[in-house]
Amino acid sequence: MAAVPAPESVVDEASLAREHFAFLRPPQGPPPAELSEGERLARELESSLLRDAAVVDLSRAKYGKVGMRWRTVAEAMGGKGKTVCGGVECSETRDLRQLELPFGWQESLPGKPPTPRVALVTSALCPGCALSLCRARRVME
Ligand SMILES: [Zn+2]
Repeated sequence: MAAVPAPESVVDEASLAREHFAFLRPPQGPPPAELSEGERLARELESSLLRDAAVVDLSRAKYGKVGMRWRTVAEAMGGKGKTVCGGVECSETRDLRQLELPFGWQESLPGKPPTPRVALVTSALCPGCALSLCRARRVME
């Protein structure tokens, strides 16, 4: 029986897009014709997200860590972050407050040094999620 060769490292398109994904891409950059396959896939993914509101992950708020990402089209159609609380695991629709949130993160793109970035994002949060966010900020300070 012949030995089966070891499979080569296979990177699927979703992994490649995630590797090159940027929360906010700097306005300057190479023209589309000069993009690598990963950059092209990441930009396709980025263009499918709506940047008018963020979805906020508060699952690690008690450790002072808050995650944010842009809304998908399906989330936007359901009102997430606008008429439904922007908390990832929350579906509250009452007493929402539109908040502008400074979000800092470390952008790590392949071939480039990690770069600290800060952006102002908006999301509508219910009182419970807003309180979790405030507590996370206190832990961070
Ligand atoms: Zn909420």
